Amino acid sequence: MSLRNRDVLVGMSGVVNVSGQMKEQRQCDGCSACCEVLRIDVLDKPTYQKCEHVCDGGGCGVYGSRPVACQSFRCLWLLGHLDEGQRPDKLGVMLTVTEHPLTGKAIMFTEVHDEAMVRPEVVAAMREAVARLPIAIMRKGENVLVRNEQELDDLLGMQSACA
Ligand code: SF4
Ligand code: SF4
Repeated sequence: MSLRNRDVLVGMSGVVNVSGQMKEQRQCDGCSACCEVLRIDVLDKPTYQKCEHVCDGGGCGVYGSRPVACQSFRCLWLLGHLDEGQRPDKLGVMLTVTEHPLTGKAIMFTEVHDEAMVRPEVVAAMREAVARLPIAIMRKGENVLVRNEQELDDLLGMQSACA
């Protein structure tokens, strides 16, 4: 797994490449992870509830008239980060760049599948990310801000102690 440091640092508010253009070589195809985990106020949809418009097998049933919030959203995988095979529905975790009220820019790790956050490749990505920016971890019913590698070690240690 590889976060492309330069792009993340350059494009904090939308992850753009150095020429200022969005990188969009990838397609969502069968992934609808964001349509489940994100809160979308205009649809009155809470976090971790699949949108009623998600089609069987993925995709949006109201694509042409989907809300602006949906049109503008892009996870880091869609923007070209991470490995090709680590699409959020496959990896079990969705990464985004976010504004955190305490730290400013942060990389958010949102758990899509239960327990995916402890997968070795996800832990490796968190280590890679927190060396550059604070990370915000969102799981069902839990939000944790991790500001440095020591805090991540403490969190991971707590998780293994509770396993
Ligand atoms: S989580 Fe990313 S890849 Fe999946 S549907 Fe949303 S934007 Fe597309
Ligand atoms: S309206 Fe479409 S794009 Fe938006 S959350 Fe629902 S299924 Fe996803």
